[in-house]
Amino acid sequence: MIKDFRYLRPQDLQEALGMLREHAGEAKVICGGQSLLILMRQGLVAPEYLIDIKHLEELSYIRLDEDGLRIGATTTHRALEKSKELAERYPIIPEMEETLASIQTRNWGTIGGNLSHADPAGDPAPVLIALGAKVKLAKADGTREMALEDFFLDYFETALEEDELLVEISVPPVPARTGVAFEKFTIIGCDMGIVSATARVTLDEGGRAAEARVVLGGAAPTPLRAKGAEEVLVGEDLREELLEEAGRKASEECEPISDIHASEGYRRELVRVLTKRMLRKAWQRAAQG
Ligand SMILES: Cc1cc2nc3c(=O)[nH]c(=O)nc-3n(C[C@H](O)[C@H](O)[C@H](O)COP(=O)(O)OP(=O)(O)OC[C@H]3O[C@@H](n4cnc5c(N)ncnc54)[C@H](O)[C@@H]3O)c2cc1C
Repeated sequence: MIKDFRYLRPQDLQEALGMLREHAGEAKVICGGQSLLILMRQGLVAPEYLIDIKHLEELSYIRLDEDGLRIGATTTHRALEKSKELAERYPIIPEMEETLASIQTRNWGTIGGNLSHADPAGDPAPVLIALGAKVKLAKADGTREMALEDFFLDYFETALEEDELLVEISVPPVPARTGVAFEKFTIIGCDMGIVSATARVTLDEGGRAAEARVVLGGAAPTPLRAKGAEEVLVGEDLREELLEEAGRKASEECEPISDIHASEGYRRELVRVLTKRMLRKAWQRAAQG
């Protein structure tokens, strides 16, 4: 049963930040409620105050210009999935969103809530890290920015302070000759993945890998850059043995757990296979320009 709480509905961002400061340590922000309400129902979280930010239109936007992409924290998964501009300039984001939960959950759940919840098996974080995303965090008296990669500290733990809100995610422009691919392995379609792999490859003019990123989900306490796998690729031509080697490195450097869904060994094998498969796909996409 959910413990009683006081429901607060700020009129704008500044009021929300003031409420967070006033009730720091006793309040939780609620946005779509798709993750928080589960924890509250299980009694794992029992805040005195709930500060609702879902209706704050000033935090709901997808903006694209020559500096890249900016997404407001209360933007829903469904809005990201359906954005025509994103499909054109960052197609991997709608592609990933399409398999995140059900349409109902995508209609309620938000990108800010998903990242702040910090489930290591969440889908958006590895894709956004592969794209080089940053997050903007706001308090009553100012903002700070950090790489999304540094935002995640541990299982369900982020750099957010008690009186801080995640307000925006920004993504730089994608360089030419770059391909990105994402896949998760699930038991039930459109549910949390057991493991996911995102690969991003940028080719030089000769078709060799100038830059590569491999980011794993569900394979460590936080989304994980498989840097050993990335190093294998740089300066090389696409060859089957290279992909094999990168997959093997990723499976060695990840830190998966065993649980009721899959053993540690099974997860490592999934990482090996998915890394290899996503690198091949990202490379082919990069070659197609
Ligand atoms: C059935 C089901 C299936 C799901 N499948 C998937 C899946 O396949 N892939 C996947 O990635 N996720 C999945 N999820 C998780 C879910 O979709 C996301 O975690 C959800 O979108 C979170 O957003 P929200 O707005 O609902 O956050 P809420 O539940 O409102 O909040 C989540 C947490 O973030 C905090 N928070 C919210 N917004 C902010 C903010 N702007 N700044 C600071 N803190 C904030 C809250 O205090 C809370 O701790 C699934 C969920 C369900 C119920």
